[in-house]
Amino acid sequence: MFELTIKTEFSSAHKLRGYEGACERLHGHNWRVEVSIEAASTGPMGFVMDFKELKRATASIIERLDHRYLNETPPFTEINPSAELIAKYIHEELSGLVKEKKIRVSKVLVRESDSASASYSEDKKENE
Ligand SMILES: [Zn+2]
Repeated sequence: MFELTIKTEFSSAHKLRGYEGACERLHGHNWRVEVSIEAASTGPMGFVMDFKELKRATASIIERLDHRYLNETPPFTEINPSAELIAKYIHEELSGLVKEKKIRVSKVLVRESDSASASYSEDKKENE
């Protein structure tokens, strides 16, 4: 398999509902995001996907979150804006934008600090 990874980042505020501790209070993060896609083969140019295209698709999702208060930004009006659920949201939205059948989003990792990150990927067997 080939795997491509791009990195991007965004800034936003959030608070975790129902959490007992500092994260229940309004605070911000400079979130760093790593998006990986995979495919078993390349196209005729030797690419799985143009990095520019992957960055553009990812940016179209990230801009919905950048410089926002996530608790007031769908879908985080309903679900907690945790690193885990942000990773899942980006994974699902990006999967909807990648139209080529042979390409799948393999992993989305969201880092909220140097020492803490969460990632989301789908079990391959569930999709087969
Ligand atoms: Zn936080």
